[in-house]
Amino acid sequence: MQHPLENIAAQQPPFDPADAPVEAVLGRGGRELRMSFADGSTAAAPAETLRLRCRCAWCTRARVDARFPAAFADAAIVAVEPMGGYAVHLVFADGHDRGIFPWSYLRSLAREASAAAARPEPAQAA
Ligand SMILES: [Zn+2]
Repeated sequence: MQHPLENIAAQQPPFDPADAPVEAVLGRGGRELRMSFADGSTAAAPAETLRLRCRCAWCTRARVDARFPAAFADAAIVAVEPMGGYAVHLVFADGHDRGIFPWSYLRSLAREASAAAARPEPAQAA
């Protein structure tokens, strides 16, 4: 039987090489993935966002079954393994290691997270 990760990696999506960072490092004890791009820009994706937005078969199934957690307060990334140049395999501290994240997806999640952080808190959230 083929390893599920190899199946996913074989389905290489359309890919903008500009979305692949020149450097990707873990920050804040694995609580964020920091990326630096060739154009000089940087982006940081929170580990919790990545854990919440994992698109692996297991997480997708859990969402369909309405048993996917709404939050991962202690989410952290413990390993980052490049996959064929277009994506990265992330291993989370909770043991979840099925997620393959294309760089373009990571960059868009980082943009989304920084936009959310820049928005003022809703009044009722206080
Ligand atoms: Zn997953």
